[in-house]
Amino acid sequence: MSEDIPFNRVLNLSPGVVEEVVPGVRRILVDNPSPFTFKGTLSYIIGRGKVAIIDPGPVDERHTAALLDAVRGETVTHIVITHTHRDHSPGAAAVKAATGAPTYGEGPHRPARPLFIDETKRLDAGGDTDFVPDHRIAHGDVIAGDGWALEAIATPGHTANHMAFALKGTDVLFSGDHVMGWSTSIVAPPDGAMSDYMASLHRLAARPEKVYLAGHGDVIRDAPDFVARYIAHRRGRETSILHRLGKGEADIPSLVRAIYIGLDPRLTGAASLSTLAHLEDLVARGLVATDGVPSISGRYRLPP
Ligand SMILES: [Zn+2]
Repeated sequence: MSEDIPFNRVLNLSPGVVEEVVPGVRRILVDNPSPFTFKGTLSYIIGRGKVAIIDPGPVDERHTAALLDAVRGETVTHIVITHTHRDHSPGAAAVKAATGAPTYGEGPHRPARPLFIDETKRLDAGGDTDFVPDHRIAHGDVIAGDGWALEAIATPGHTANHMAFALKGTDVLFSGDHVMGWSTSIVAPPDGAMSDYMASLHRLAARPEKVYLAGHGDVIRDAPDFVARYIAHRRGRETSILHRLGKGEADIPSLVRAIYIGLDPRLTGAASLSTLAHLEDLVARGLVATDGVPSISGRYRLPP
């Protein structure tokens, strides 16, 4: 896809292996590789003795067992969720049942905007609609444990309920699926919204943390530069869409062909939804016109 972001497509970690990734933080990889999850989802364990688990992962007995093995002899005091996609939050139920630890998250899964009639299925595909946090957290809340504290940073866009967490007193931020080292994030309506996503990127760009631990992929070591490139990449996508529409009206399939050169065919659906996300944002800003509300089957043009 894009060469303007210094992606790192290496992750030397086998599923189920516990590794201290930065001081005081361990990570364990789920065995769920795919074009969307890279090598798999990463669960994180914060602290020693009395610990938090961030993103217990999907329903996966082996992964849950590996997580519980990793914290044997310790007490899990918090289960923290970045967002309610099926590869991140459903494992919370099994970890909670085994440890009694309460769950923390922004809220249940919800779309970023009202649904259209044909969208119900798409929302169900990736969303974990069963998860309800025991403790709802808002932007700026601090989750304090034994020897560690997490500051919640609302980062809607990938999902409406996405939260990032800064590990207080360190240079480390858990970026979930909002910013990842191996790929751009998927922003797919109706779960995702591009205007929220861009605002959330700017929110992170204003922060000092240099090291990001993401839901997929290896550590991001120069996060401020990486986030700036993520923002520039999205602006580039906008420019490509406007450039293509400058040549005449287009539907989403022709925009995707024009914008995504060399796209993995398995990602065509995601690319179409990402393009729709950009179009929703561009229409809202008055830069693109369509008939009625922006939809996946709509035709798009520059405003007269
Ligand atoms: Zn996700």
